[in-house]
Amino acid sequence: MKNCDKFYINGSWVDPKSSYNFDLLHPANEEKIASIAMGSRLDVDEAVKAAKKAFVTWQFSSIEERVDLLNSIMKVYKSRSEEFIKTMSYEMGTTISFSREVQMPVGIGHLEAAIEALKSHQFERQSPRGGSTLVDEPVGIVGMITPWNWPVNQIMIKVAPALAAGCVMILKPSEYSPLSSIMLAEVFHEAGCPPGVFNLINGDGEGVGSAISSHPEIDMISFTGSTRAGKAITKEAADTIKRVTLELGGKSPNLFFGDADIEKAVKVSVDACFINNGQSCDAASRLLVDRKVYDLVVEKVAEEVRSVQVGDPMVEGKHIGPVVNKIQFDNIQKLIEIGINEGANLVAGGLGLPEGMNKGYYIQPTLFADVRNDMEIAQNEVFGPVLSIIPFDTEEEAVEIANQTPYGLAAYIQSTNSERIERVSRRLRAGVINVNGFAGDYDVPFGGYKQSGNGREAGPLGFHEYLETKAITQS
Ligand code: NAD
Repeated sequence: MKNCDKFYINGSWVDPKSSYNFDLLHPANEEKIASIAMGSRLDVDEAVKAAKKAFVTWQFSSIEERVDLLNSIMKVYKSRSEEFIKTMSYEMGTTISFSREVQMPVGIGHLEAAIEALKSHQFERQSPRGGSTLVDEPVGIVGMITPWNWPVNQIMIKVAPALAAGCVMILKPSEYSPLSSIMLAEVFHEAGCPPGVFNLINGDGEGVGSAISSHPEIDMISFTGSTRAGKAITKEAADTIKRVTLELGGKSPNLFFGDADIEKAVKVSVDACFINNGQSCDAASRLLVDRKVYDLVVEKVAEEVRSVQVGDPMVEGKHIGPVVNKIQFDNIQKLIEIGINEGANLVAGGLGLPEGMNKGYYIQPTLFADVRNDMEIAQNEVFGPVLSIIPFDTEEEAVEIANQTPYGLAAYIQSTNSERIERVSRRLRAGVINVNGFAGDYDVPFGGYKQSGNGREAGPLGFHEYLETKAITQS
């Protein structure tokens, strides 16, 4: 693939100022698929210079110009959709069917939502009592740092609203999903993005990530990734008083009540944890089950987990693929071992590669029952196809267990009782509540409570994160 050894700065593909190379391995066979140039603080300085120059005019671009650019990006992105589908599966192991059905189309969804938010936003208005004019303006230069698990999604959910708001930006994608990010830079270029408005530098967190977080001329950081990195970024950004929005990890509870439609709820519960090979920030990894139906649900969930097939991500099908890399594989193995040692009841799956496999970062679909909420597998983000079941006796206790976590990204409810759904939804400390499945839309805000982050992405609220409000008063 071209441009792996270059960065996209000021509208061209340029050589890094200084770099070392990072070998990217295919998660299914551990073979090298690309060698990526990793940048440094010097490259960030170059990108900031370009962004600063571009901001002089882009901040005053008209709504029509921005809408035209976003529509043009959508057209070019769609024309390369098949390439994006394959590249995402190739670089990080999401299965090609999931890539086709979800990972690629989400890019279009965020572009459409950003266009709608832009068209309907009132940039200028009078103060509530009149007399002053309030004007919304772009926040300025935005540093974007993104993870590998939803490669296009995490970038488009930031770039589309930032462009719509009139911001300029520097993206550092994850070193584990650089290929689709390079392709996105090519798309923005072909679509006519003015030089310097969007810039891309590959690199790691300690080098490029940290240079972006601490840069005195970057006005805002939009970060998605682990809570660990979110804390480091917040501290590094503090000295320059940047706006920092954080989309972090989760340990989302799924409250399965005795009045649920059992068959449907079992399928939803396994899907909500195993989707994208178990690598989603909002994975429903703690399944809290009403003791009245506990044995039946454990049996049915076990059947469902045992029926999950594991296989090559490049082959179409309903199976799940490998996790992204050796670091994630080892971490998941360690957590499964801890779960066994803590005395959780291993009902399906377990340690080691799935039967018949001898390479790749594949994890056995794993189910623990009789888990206590203070166990490590109930408190730590596993980020793989590993589900933990915890029993509860009352609605009160279910809510208490659900909220007993440092995280607060998503929560799930399985129930047919509308009064209970209403009551419980209001008491869960999480940014998104999914009832009996997923009905999320691109204009619904996404983000967390507690250590799952701050700020919201997507739709009008996500768009608003990239604006500053100026008050113009006259005497
Ligand atoms: P990560 O935190 O290791 O890396 C994310 C990004 O941050 C990468 O680009 C990485 O290079 C960079 N980074 C790492 N350390 C840094 C530092 N000290 N300073 C600056 N940048 C740094 O996370 P990951 O393994 O890529 O992704 C998985 C994590 O992301 C999970 O915890 C998951 O829950 C979270 N996530 C959250 C959301 C959300 O919307 N809340 C969405 C997807 C993933």
